Amino acid sequence: MKIKDDSSQLNTQRVIVIGGGAAGLLAAGRAAELGASVTLLERMDEPGNKLLITGKSRCNLTNIAPLKEFLTAFGPNGKFLYGAFSRFFRDELLGFFLRYGIETKNERGGRVFPASDNAADVVAALMSYIKDHGVDLRLSSRVAGIERDDRGVTGVILDSGEFIPGTAVILAAGGSSYPATGSAGDGFRLAEKLGHKVNTLYPALVPLVIKEISYAIAFQGVSLKNVRLTAYAVNKASIPEMTIEHDYGRGTGWEKPPAPIIESRFGEMLFTHFGIGGPITLLMSQAVARALDAGPVSVSINLKPALTNKELDARLLREFAVSPKRQLPAILRELLPEKMVDLMAGISGIPMGRTASNFTTEDRHRLVKLLKGLTFDVKTPLPIGAAMVTAGGIDLKEIDPRTMASKLVPGLYLAGEVLDLDADTGGYNLQAAFSTGWVAGEAAAKFAGIIIE
Ligand SMILES: Cc1cc2nc3c(=O)[nH]c(=O)nc-3n(C[C@H](O)[C@H](O)[C@H](O)COP(=O)(O)OP(=O)(O)OC[C@H]3O[C@@H](n4cnc5c(N)ncnc54)[C@H](O)[C@@H]3O)c2cc1C
Repeated sequence: MKIKDDSSQLNTQRVIVIGGGAAGLLAAGRAAELGASVTLLERMDEPGNKLLITGKSRCNLTNIAPLKEFLTAFGPNGKFLYGAFSRFFRDELLGFFLRYGIETKNERGGRVFPASDNAADVVAALMSYIKDHGVDLRLSSRVAGIERDDRGVTGVILDSGEFIPGTAVILAAGGSSYPATGSAGDGFRLAEKLGHKVNTLYPALVPLVIKEISYAIAFQGVSLKNVRLTAYAVNKASIPEMTIEHDYGRGTGWEKPPAPIIESRFGEMLFTHFGIGGPITLLMSQAVARALDAGPVSVSINLKPALTNKELDARLLREFAVSPKRQLPAILRELLPEKMVDLMAGISGIPMGRTASNFTTEDRHRLVKLLKGLTFDVKTPLPIGAAMVTAGGIDLKEIDPRTMASKLVPGLYLAGEVLDLDADTGGYNLQAAFSTGWVAGEAAAKFAGIIIE
């Protein structure tokens, strides 16, 4: 690729990047690599704060899932990424990091991590990239507004009042999650002021608070593996628009769902002092958050999803025959983690001292029902600030998927979590930030006068 710089005659022909996170660092580096004069503005006193805590500080960079599956992880908006991914996807990303000395390894669920298990290495590589290409990085520089005239963007204003002129501006200020890292929703406000539509924000990948708080406290710390968690709308009238029956029916477990299902997942979850968390809870949290807008939501835990009601009943009968003197707590001990036994015995309504030989059919059926559907009412998800990802954001209809250019404001480009894009855990979100950042960097450089032949 031959690059010519056509921007020398005007010293304002500069690309300004707002936000030194995953998207902004790559966008700034790429625009500068192509020959643009780039200023990267970061409001915190160091860049990449969020990157440093990703993947429990190991940074799950991307995923080895095939493209189609990759896009599916973003839900219906995933197709928007096709343009960016066809220019810069996983192979290009891993090739880029390899050039900066970062070897990677694949883990469970196709997750890709740096071989060093150290997110700081990823930030260091991105810092080397921008430094190698002469990006002017300005820290503690919070952008308060993006300026424009009739022809398009003209620059940005910092909260100090300083105006920085620029021909193109890349908005990569992140979402509203983990505001202490610097991503505190500024990006949405900046875009909105320019007329962009910001779709309602929701917390995604977040634990859920349940109404039965005393149960949560009693079960706190219990981790459940191989269970099926199902969220459902309590009132039929409140069936949410976004109802997803995620892998419903693949496992066994539900013969008769109690109400319209919002989402159902099999896997691992845990109890916290306020409710439920763990992988499958986080994955369905956004759907639950959206459904709560429409009406009450309950979650039901099938603790024995591999068995049908009938099979579980038969198993109980077999066990009762082998140990007829066993009392209820001892029976439950065979079926549940120790910490759940006493409370579950209480919830069952079966007398504590009842021995297996004295169990009535009704007692057995009650126990089966409880084990197949331990149900709680969801009070709320934790707030967006505590969510791993902000769902919702700048409406994709107003952005060109091939370039990340705003369709409303010439010279404005948008990349990363500020967009209405979010995915499951697994490295998808970072890949989207890197890919949209890269593409925005290229397109903004071109707009600023760099001729790429
Ligand atoms: C705890 C946690 C773990 C995660 N782990 C993973 C993971 O392992 N894999 C994965 O794929 N995703 C993970 N994510 C999600 C991922 O981190 C984000 O989707 C990604 O960082 C978004 O990149 P971004 O560049 O758009 O935004 P950010 O990385 O949030 O960067 C935005 C930057 O803009 C700056 N900024 C904001 N406003 C202004 C302003 N007005 N002026 C100047 N600068 C501004 C911020 O300070 C920040 O540095 C995780 C998220 C969290 C919270």
